[in-house]
Amino acid sequence: MIQNPKGTHDIFGSEMTIYQAIRELYINICNSYGFKEIILPIFESSNLFQRGVGESSDVVRKEMYTFLDKGGRSITLRPEFTAGIIRSFIQNKMYANEELPVKLFYHGPTFRYERPQSGRYRQFHQLGVECVGLNSYLLDSEIIALGYDFLVNLGLKDIVTLKINTLGDEETRNNYRNALKEYFANYIDKMCDDCKSRYELNPLRILDCKIKEDQELIKNAPKISDYLSEKSKDRFNKLVAYLDELGIPYAIDESLVRGLDYYSETVFEFHVKNNDEIDIGAIGAGGHYSSLVKELDGPDMHGVGFSFGAERLISVVKDNSEKLGLNFDDQLAVYIMPLGNDKVREEALSIAIALRQSGIPSQICYEEVKINNMFKRAERKNALIGIIIGEDEIKKEEVQVKNLSTKEQIAVSYESLVDTLFEMLPHDDCHCHDHDDCCCSDENESEVGESEKCCCHHHK
Ligand code: AMP
Repeated sequence: MIQNPKGTHDIFGSEMTIYQAIRELYINICNSYGFKEIILPIFESSNLFQRGVGESSDVVRKEMYTFLDKGGRSITLRPEFTAGIIRSFIQNKMYANEELPVKLFYHGPTFRYERPQSGRYRQFHQLGVECVGLNSYLLDSEIIALGYDFLVNLGLKDIVTLKINTLGDEETRNNYRNALKEYFANYIDKMCDDCKSRYELNPLRILDCKIKEDQELIKNAPKISDYLSEKSKDRFNKLVAYLDELGIPYAIDESLVRGLDYYSETVFEFHVKNNDEIDIGAIGAGGHYSSLVKELDGPDMHGVGFSFGAERLISVVKDNSEKLGLNFDDQLAVYIMPLGNDKVREEALSIAIALRQSGIPSQICYEEVKINNMFKRAERKNALIGIIIGEDEIKKEEVQVKNLSTKEQIAVSYESLVDTLFEMLPHDDCHCHDHDDCCCSDENESEVGESEKCCCHHHK
């Protein structure tokens, strides 16, 4: 049997329901913050990531899916979104044609050839934002606020921690890099092979090492706070003071350096704790970048962004749904149960199509099973209303409509079916509360009759 490639996975069933809810919430929040969606190619020229993400990052050194296409071009499946967004920002001259900062959001698959383990895949999905064109601690704050708002709205407020740090400006990082080189020079023989090359390429990366022996050495390494330039210190102080003002809790973590080379000044990660209060790792991360746009041949402009891992969000939401009272169960308005042959099922399908056209989600039981089994299926689908139809009903041009929670059952003519169902279905199912003049919202019920603006299909 053909299996999926190592490190990939299928998202379906209850996980897909959660992912859809996460995506919908994410899109709504991004829209409310004034971000516009962008869809980028899944693959780009390899040199975009080599130059953008950085030669010293693990992502570029070890994890890229790179191949030559049939035209002999070196292509890479995107290992992250930021470089692609900046490529598009420059290529489409967004910096000149649009108001700054340009605010973009995205979601989609990402590829890294990593060692597969729990929460770590070779194809995973990210949801993120980039805000490009201006440099201000306020934009860093707004991005952090967006990420935090998203997690709060997902119901994760009580288990999420925001870790934050500053990598300072170029002057800071140059001084700090030298201090780290001096310190680690004494221990180079004891360090892992990866850290030996990190020492040469970018000693800041050593602070990211997860190997226990190296972590012991890292504990006593120089701290970045001792090397911050006055400007960077002031920028960071303003940022954290403003987060205090916004009521966003955070913990400053000086070992936070992030795995991609382009970051400067603010960096942050959102972590979650499991039931034993143990940090199970980052579900989202991001930061500010000062020179990425310029390095990719664009204007001298800054940006800030973050990215959440969809698979990690799905598993956190799934694991905590009971504890946090989260409910992502699907609900179905109508389940139609035809009793008889294909002619009856044909009629059931025609009714389902008519109901769907009126905005009432409906499904049919196609399998020939006993009526008790059909009701069990309706229950498993969280259906609110069951419709039973057989040959007798077809002759009379009516159906049996059963409220599946109260168990009340009535005969309803074809003609009045849509109106009866609208009366029976909770108004929450109807999205027309957005419209002031819709008679489905209680306040206006007596005042308004027919309205063309209403999307609930209650009104013609
Ligand atoms: P990064 O682009 O490395 O800053 O990662 C941003 C987020 O993407 C992380 O916080 C994770 O939630 C997620 N992520 C990164 N790598 C993987 C992976 N291999 N598998 C699943 N999720 C990942």
